[in-house]
Amino acid sequence: MSNRRDFLKLSAIGGSLGLALSHIKSISAIEQKQPTGPIVVSTWEHGLSANEAAWDVLSKKGRAIDAVEKGVRIPEGDPKVRTVSLGGYPDSSGKVTLDACIMDENMNCGSVAYLQNIKHPISVARKVMDDTPHVMLVGEGAQQFAKEQGFVEEDLLTAESKADWQNWLTSGQAKKLINIENHDTIGMLALDAEGNLSGACTTSGAAYKMPGRVGDSPIIGAGLYVDNEIGAATATGMGELMMKTVGCHLVVELMRQGASPQEACKQAVLRIANKLENFEQFQVGFLALNKQGEYGAYCIQTGFNYAVRNVNGEQLLDAKYLLEDKI
Ligand code: ASP
Repeated sequence: MSNRRDFLKLSAIGGSLGLALSHIKSISAIEQKQPTGPIVVSTWEHGLSANEAAWDVLSKKGRAIDAVEKGVRIPEGDPKVRTVSLGGYPDSSGKVTLDACIMDENMNCGSVAYLQNIKHPISVARKVMDDTPHVMLVGEGAQQFAKEQGFVEEDLLTAESKADWQNWLTSGQAKKLINIENHDTIGMLALDAEGNLSGACTTSGAAYKMPGRVGDSPIIGAGLYVDNEIGAATATGMGELMMKTVGCHLVVELMRQGASPQEACKQAVLRIANKLENFEQFQVGFLALNKQGEYGAYCIQTGFNYAVRNVNGEQLLDAKYLLEDKI
């Protein structure tokens, strides 16, 4: 809350002195508390091993952008993680289609959507960010770009995922459990030793989705947003709800207004609850990290957890939630 008070105080001074907004912003930045040291946070339990890879970069004073890319590559390459890249659940036609995005401390961002047969979409997104004038490439264009960049094509549909999909086809396409089959995107946020923030988000999307469907995860502002002056947010769950509310941008803007990371995540969930019909049938979880290294999360249903890694070690925490367990 002190940030909000400082900001209001500075805004008032700025207003009375007729200072330019850009000048007020730079005073506000100076007033911010110094970061407490590097930290990385990630969605879900598979965030633990992803965080460990990211921590390897952060603990050696590496950049947050390198940490988040290295970190989320772990679940991307792990066939046991059934919701991210290799081994991910396919769409209803049996194709594994991938969405990912990445954003650094300078508002640079890169994104790929509906990408097939490339195991590390986050690294393709990084290449889009670093080596093109664009933010987002999709489908065949993204795949062509990846191949030109030296990424190797491989079949990402494992025997287990194929068997589950065939079972789903023959079982009358049963309603999926809210927290289990649908919602295990990895979103990762990191603050490095220099005090810079970055984030990454990567997924195979909702299990058995309609062919061609793209979710929130590659959409800057919906599945991920970073403002190095304020904080960063990422999301998991039913992507359409984040897309309709531009959820992660909203979380960052709420932190800009003085909310703590957890309060900002809660307010974004409440926005969904207040605006969108049938929200209670879905899971949405937001995770946020601010410039001071404070973090928090909030979700609709019970069951969303997140992993934290800093100099004190690793933790897996349950997010607070809005509704009683509906599963
Ligand atoms: N947000 C992802 C999507 O809607 C799903 C997930 O988090 O698992 O594609």
